[in-house]
Amino acid sequence: MSADVGDDGRGRNGQCRGTGSDARQFRLAGAEGPMTAWCRILGEAGPVVAARRNGELWPVRSAGQPVTDLHPIVRGELDPASLTFGEPVALIDAHLLAPIGSFPRNIFCIGKNYREHALEFTTSGFDSSGTAAQDLIPTAPIVFSKPFTSVIGPGDLIDPHPHLTSMLDYEAELAVVIGRGGRDIALADALDHVFGYTIGNDVTARDRQRHHRQWLLGKGMDTFCPMGPAVVTAEEIDLANAVVECRVNGELRQKASVADLIFDVPTLIRDLSAGMTLVPGDVIATGTPAGVGIGFDPPRFLKPGDEVAATIEPIGTLTNRIG
Ligand code: MG
Repeated sequence: MSADVGDDGRGRNGQCRGTGSDARQFRLAGAEGPMTAWCRILGEAGPVVAARRNGELWPVRSAGQPVTDLHPIVRGELDPASLTFGEPVALIDAHLLAPIGSFPRNIFCIGKNYREHALEFTTSGFDSSGTAAQDLIPTAPIVFSKPFTSVIGPGDLIDPHPHLTSMLDYEAELAVVIGRGGRDIALADALDHVFGYTIGNDVTARDRQRHHRQWLLGKGMDTFCPMGPAVVTAEEIDLANAVVECRVNGELRQKASVADLIFDVPTLIRDLSAGMTLVPGDVIATGTPAGVGIGFDPPRFLKPGDEVAATIEPIGTLTNRIG
């Protein structure tokens, strides 16, 4: 892959221009519409952000230098006039990385946020956080976190940590990427703070989750947060009609509409930002639908070699194997 830059410092293939109204509305010269899907790929000189369009990835440069992380774009800091695109590479040839390379802190996660999953989890015997009848369906968001050190990219192997767990499970989730920070964000303003959306797999060691009576240790182990394949900007996704799917070795295990969230995205942003500042680059995994391994009787845990593929269109499919 080469990022082709001409004598004037601008990409030969793709000069860009802003719309004038939004610094994040980067456009390829000669192409219709703004760039709205952002990936990161491993280039010859290291990680570089690439805009995805029609099956091709366009490496991004700013003022002649590769843009190595998505943060300047999330924050709206890049001058569209300074942005150029190098030679595109085919999506199938690219080594995709997690679309965000560094995080301001842990990934926020929401537990039991789909009604059917809340029921399957609470009745599975693995939920040591609350088993009374009134705990079946949460009345307020259940929030925990995954350390950012658990994040891996598309195609990376999930470490099964066999010395620590024998009950490895998957959770496909829509994840929110905060673009504009804030505290005490009002419900009506919440979506204005969203840069875009990606897919997360909230990989979980069920035995550790149960044993420790809280969720960080069972969900925070290295490689337990696959993320990607892209961050798609908020205006490109119709949350009312977005569908979360998860397949294990090709078998459909999870399928639900994002509209079925018990606590929707604006509610999560309002509640998380109450008295606590959200910052650009924060990620919120919104919870998983029914159909996880412990939802089956007997449970169907992951084993080495299994392939987990989480899909939300138009973000794409996040695929990882158990190592
Ligand atoms: Mg989860």
